[in-house]
Amino acid sequence: MSPSSYKGRFAPSPSGPLHLGSLACALASYFDAKANAGLWLVRMEDIDPPREPAGAAKSIVECLQAHQLYWDGDITYQSQRSQAYTHALQQLEKNRLTYLCQCTRKRLRTLEGNYDGHCRTLQHTEGALRLNILACQQLGHKVNVAFHDRICGSQHQNLLASGDFVVHRKDGLFAYQLAVIVDDIAQGINHIVRGSDLLDVTFNQLLLFDIFDYSAPKFCHIPVLLDERGYKLSKQHGAPGVNLQTPKENILQALLHMGFEPPKHLSIQQLLTWGTEQWQQAHPLQK
Ligand code: GLU
Ligand code: ZN
Repeated sequence: MSPSSYKGRFAPSPSGPLHLGSLACALASYFDAKANAGLWLVRMEDIDPPREPAGAAKSIVECLQAHQLYWDGDITYQSQRSQAYTHALQQLEKNRLTYLCQCTRKRLRTLEGNYDGHCRTLQHTEGALRLNILACQQLGHKVNVAFHDRICGSQHQNLLASGDFVVHRKDGLFAYQLAVIVDDIAQGINHIVRGSDLLDVTFNQLLLFDIFDYSAPKFCHIPVLLDERGYKLSKQHGAPGVNLQTPKENILQALLHMGFEPPKHLSIQQLLTWGTEQWQQAHPLQK
């Protein structure tokens, strides 16, 4: 691939403001795109309104601007892409790759994330829509999925064991798994740099890429940042949003967390250039 055909993205869910961990993901995907003379797109994954506080998407955009992380092209909003997701679901249904599931939350909890195919033959007329992995396999799709992650190394999972996953939720919302691949395909993304909390769902996405006949992007999952107490920096654990008044300090802190040793006297722009150069010369996360 010539360097200029690189297309990467940062795809935040606006379930709150960016915290230091999400800023690190933004920086990593930005550095990787810049180091490859590629495009860096921003996609707002706003498909779960009940979990999106008012103004969160706007605050993320302002946060990126405050840190001088400027994206290529226009920001896309998943909330405006329902038609594309509906179309993708129709394609799956047409190929008989999905079925409706009415299992209760209580039942699902006992399965610990590995759905057992209980509703596969029950012909429900409503419920959550699941991808039928067995049917995918019968159609010749690779359900024994392997890939090489640029940081985490070689990865493998048999999706028959992890089970049929949801592509359209019971509450009518599109599942992240579906929306993310529909948009990665539509935008021609060929490099994905994101947090390692999404390593496990990559297998599902690789099957979907295969079904939609799209050649798999290269993946790079960066370690999730931990706070002083050793907890994952996440909205669920109440990580605070970064302070927009101190963008340079935030970048320095994120870089330190990522294992870099950034010089303190640089401007934001210089820090971004410095980070890109460091990333290019085998960044610390790859050691
Ligand atoms: N929107 C997802 C999140 O914020 C990330 C999507 C992705 O990078 O694939 O957790
Ligand atoms: Zn079920």
